Amino acid sequence: MRFVFEPSAPVSLPVTGQDERFPVHRVYCVGRNYEEHAKEMGFTGREPPFFFLKPSDSLVVVDAGQSGTMPYPSLTHNLHHEIELVVAIGVGGKNIKAADAEKHIYGYAVGLDMTRRDLQNDMKKQGRPWCIGKAFDQSGPIGPITPKDRAGDVNNAEISLQVNGVDRQRSSVAKLIWNIAETIEHLSAAWELQAGDLIFTGTPEGVAAVVPGDRLVGQVAGLGSLSIVVQQ
Ligand code: MN
Repeated sequence: MRFVFEPSAPVSLPVTGQDERFPVHRVYCVGRNYEEHAKEMGFTGREPPFFFLKPSDSLVVVDAGQSGTMPYPSLTHNLHHEIELVVAIGVGGKNIKAADAEKHIYGYAVGLDMTRRDLQNDMKKQGRPWCIGKAFDQSGPIGPITPKDRAGDVNNAEISLQVNGVDRQRSSVAKLIWNIAETIEHLSAAWELQAGDLIFTGTPEGVAAVVPGDRLVGQVAGLGSLSIVVQQ
């Protein structure tokens, strides 16, 4: 096939323990999926889950044992960190029931849903889409994928984030309002999932601003850590 210009290389993630990489299709994100974070954002209760997307080429892929960088993005004065467990889909499907969701999972990764909070809040007030707050370039630092059979008990794993060595976020994946299987059920009712899709499952409480020079180190137990420095 010939193109009018060279197409971009596919976005892919390293996979722990093997040479083959995981090719990324779409990047879905769940909003307000931990109760204490929903409260800090001014909401309570178990609302139905809701979703937004980031472009796959907004991911900042950080190899195991490496430290990545992301630029401080334009237009914002309030860049927030959101540490998240990311689910990698290996087998697509639509209308997947929670009881069957496990069969569709390839593995898991640690990700950051970086957010231009001031712009997101402006959009919320005006009832406009969140894209400018959530889907900006290099908004999704992410580490390698751990295949599910090497990942341990992800549903009960500790999740945490330190900025310059100081704890900012610490919780458990067990505190998800909609757990991984339920999230896949809801998401696949709205979109047909495909192999290569990623799902950022939401962040626990403690979101706050970072500034250029800050080093963010996030972990989900069993999946290793993700390290990134915000540059000017
Ligand atoms: Mn998020």
